[in-house]
Amino acid sequence: MKISGNINETRTIVKEWKQQGLKVGLVPTMGYLHEGHLSLIRRAKAENDRVVVSIFVNPMQFGPTEDLASYPRDLDRDAGLCENEGVDLIFHPEPSEMYESDFCSYVDMSGLTEELCGKSRPVHFRGVQTVVSKLFHIIPADHAYFGQKDAQQLAIIKRMVRDLNFDIEIVGCPIVREEDGLAKSSRNTYLNKEERQAALILSKSLKAAKELTENGEKDAEKIISCIRNIIHTEPLARTDYIEVVDFDTIKPVKTIKGTTLIAIAVYIGKTRLIDNIITA
Ligand code: AMP
Repeated sequence: MKISGNINETRTIVKEWKQQGLKVGLVPTMGYLHEGHLSLIRRAKAENDRVVVSIFVNPMQFGPTEDLASYPRDLDRDAGLCENEGVDLIFHPEPSEMYESDFCSYVDMSGLTEELCGKSRPVHFRGVQTVVSKLFHIIPADHAYFGQKDAQQLAIIKRMVRDLNFDIEIVGCPIVREEDGLAKSSRNTYLNKEERQAALILSKSLKAAKELTENGEKDAEKIISCIRNIIHTEPLARTDYIEVVDFDTIKPVKTIKGTTLIAIAVYIGKTRLIDNIITA
């Protein structure tokens, strides 16, 4: 397995694979890998001849008061995990390799990015779209793998690829959870013991919402109040949002029909966690 921090070298390696007729899968990450990331890597391994994992904590997608400096990083550990999974190439650039000092070109969209996490993280999705566009240009892969854990991000990337005609197929992968239900996340490392226990309120509330919908409830307001009431029982939890939206447009819906995303963001202490379910 090769690790490269260089854009030209990475592009050359991937282009050579393409010239040999090999299928390439890309898994974009910010590192500090866990089973959620590994599930994406395994899917990419199963569906491609070569797999590239990018590890880049992208400064552009963090707001000024967010956790860019404290975001966990451990390249050696990540490299070991990737090697075990049979990854062929890690792309791990420095911020200065990705962003020239006079960088001024951005990829953005209206609508989808303004809802859910976009309300409290106004620059986040512009940063995500810009870096993912750059990765798609640097690594001309056939398939790119994204988790449903970040469902709004997945919807935005799918839309960006459609609207801007990127020649890549986006593959969405299910959420991987801890045994007790907490969605795996690199940010879970911020939680102390008490907070880790309190964080279960997210998956617990969504499980109740899922049961409601399975029993035929279609009214978004009722689903939202069910989730809100459960989250209120946890003193360490503070709700950022609870929303029921169309998965394609990310616009709130009053009634569940088609593919609907039930998404929540909740602060546990100082840590902001997200989770969701999608009803077909
Ligand atoms: P991150 O490193 O947090 O930017 O995540 C990189 C990719 O892994 C994104 O596509 C995430 O949606 C995905 N991912 C993160 N956590 C999980 C999880 N628990 N299950 C599935 N995919 C995940």
